[in-house]
Amino acid sequence: MLKSKVKPLNDILKEKLKPIVRQIDEQAYYPKEVLQAIGEAGYLSSEGKTLKETAAGEIEVVKQTSKYCMTTGFNLWCHLAALTYLRHTPNKALQQRLLPKLESGEVLGGTGLSNPMKYYAGLEKLHLKARKTEGGYLLSGVLPAVSNLGDGHWFGVIAATEDDQRVMALISCEQERLSLKEKVSYLGLNGSATYACCFEDVFIPDEQILSEDADTFVKQIRPYFVAYQIPLGFGVTQAAISSMKKHENKQNGCNQYLPVQPEDLVGKLKPIEEALGNIFQHSSADVKWEDLLPIRKDAAYVTLEAVNTAMLHAGGAGYLKNSADARRLRETYFFMNLTPTVKHLGKMIR
Ligand SMILES: Cc1cc2nc3c(=O)[nH]c(=O)nc-3n(C[C@H](O)[C@H](O)[C@H](O)COP(=O)(O)OP(=O)(O)OC[C@H]3O[C@@H](n4cnc5c(N)ncnc54)[C@H](O)[C@@H]3O)c2cc1C
Repeated sequence: MLKSKVKPLNDILKEKLKPIVRQIDEQAYYPKEVLQAIGEAGYLSSEGKTLKETAAGEIEVVKQTSKYCMTTGFNLWCHLAALTYLRHTPNKALQQRLLPKLESGEVLGGTGLSNPMKYYAGLEKLHLKARKTEGGYLLSGVLPAVSNLGDGHWFGVIAATEDDQRVMALISCEQERLSLKEKVSYLGLNGSATYACCFEDVFIPDEQILSEDADTFVKQIRPYFVAYQIPLGFGVTQAAISSMKKHENKQNGCNQYLPVQPEDLVGKLKPIEEALGNIFQHSSADVKWEDLLPIRKDAAYVTLEAVNTAMLHAGGAGYLKNSADARRLRETYFFMNLTPTVKHLGKMIR
């Protein structure tokens, strides 16, 4: 349980995130201090809680954060993915060394698992190769985009070994022979601290191996990987609905003649939120990946509908380059294309 004197999450978001949302979107500003403050306040602590209870709380944190800014919500997701790897790893020494620091926000993390997720769904070959060497592995290959990186940050990767096995490792951004190239020319999300990561025989000691059997490990972590993405859409959809409501009385209520109204979206969002809530709050069963995929897909499409609709309700004000509605529209296209992308989800749900 969070201690009673813990600062309310919304106060942290109002004080630390709200004032810098434009900077994040327009100047590729990485909101590291917001992630640190959330961790410092105890919102990512698993102490005394089951994995499911921990995740239920963190899902809410991603949603509240994404109401203000989906880029920051996404950074938080990256960090939660790294946390998930450490919470599940059989490498207890690595867990003890880093988990408390990640949960308190002292150290931040990310994930390079987009390509492996596509590999496991039969979409792509693995980009990273691992060669066994004394005391560890040598990793080579390129990951075109890994977010929430910077000095002192760590991220998870999966690489194919010479004997057709797959290993999962936690990589430090300071690793020798690893080069990072910042990417800031996206339509949105430029404050996400996203880098292309080039591995040239990077030595990863055994102490940094999360699992020698990534094929099995990935089955344990991927439900959480996907579950933490879903509230990105919930937060953005709720922000889009609030925006529509603000414009309700404009031009003598003319927006009522638009085909989609805020209450339509509220009605569509509710069962999707309930479906996720049922898994994390009202069921004692294990969290299942297959149950989460349709929720993730529905969340993506309702978010797209909400941000499109909000643009119509906002009218000229929404069409300004720096409007919040336009930012949500740009950010949502990333949500559709974040692995598992909607096409990837379509293939898996068939
Ligand atoms: C802002 C942003 C942040 C992202 N953050 C992460 C992250 O933290 N972790 C993560 O694992 N993935 C990240 N991705 C990747 C993301 O999750 C999706 O995989 C990607 O957006 C698109 O998937 P797609 O299926 O459309 O593949 P496509 O974009 O069509 O890519 C198809 C293939 O080409 C490769 N590819 C794409 N661009 C390049 C390039 N410039 N050089 C070489 N190969 C390339 C891809 O890896 C893939 O194998 C990020 C992408 C963006 C745009």
